Amino acid sequence: MFLFLISSICFGYEYHAKWHDRPDVIICESSNVNKESFIQAIDYWEQRGYNIVNDIIFKRECNHNRIEDTIVVRSDDGRVKDYQHAVTNIKWSDKNLVFATIYISEGSENNLNVLKHELGHAFGIKHTSDNSDIMYKKVN
Ligand SMILES: [Zn+2]
Repeated sequence: MFLFLISSICFGYEYHAKWHDRPDVIICESSNVNKESFIQAIDYWEQRGYNIVNDIIFKRECNHNRIEDTIVVRSDDGRVKDYQHAVTNIKWSDKNLVFATIYISEGSENNLNVLKHELGHAFGIKHTSDNSDIMYKKVN
């Protein structure tokens, strides 16, 4: 029973899809996301058993939004609404993620809760109805 409870905490999220192989993360310089902030967001998930990310790469120039097997972090290109901090687009095929792109709006670049939440989406995780959870639809 105890083991069952632990696994239900670790695997309690619903997914759109999952990564088959661990993706790299590319952080575009123009996103203004600070590498240390992003590493803290990755640590948050790793402490909860989500060892999903392979390598973190900083790129001065990001020409492509969509790179297979990669989570790309970039600045908003107009798709983030006024009431949002960020938007994450994911594409999957046969329940396996193909790519994820996180668009961060100006002013939210180093908001740790936003980075954690969007990284959760980039892992394929859906919103939860638990308003105390980082994957609740509203993040402060
Ligand atoms: Zn969300």
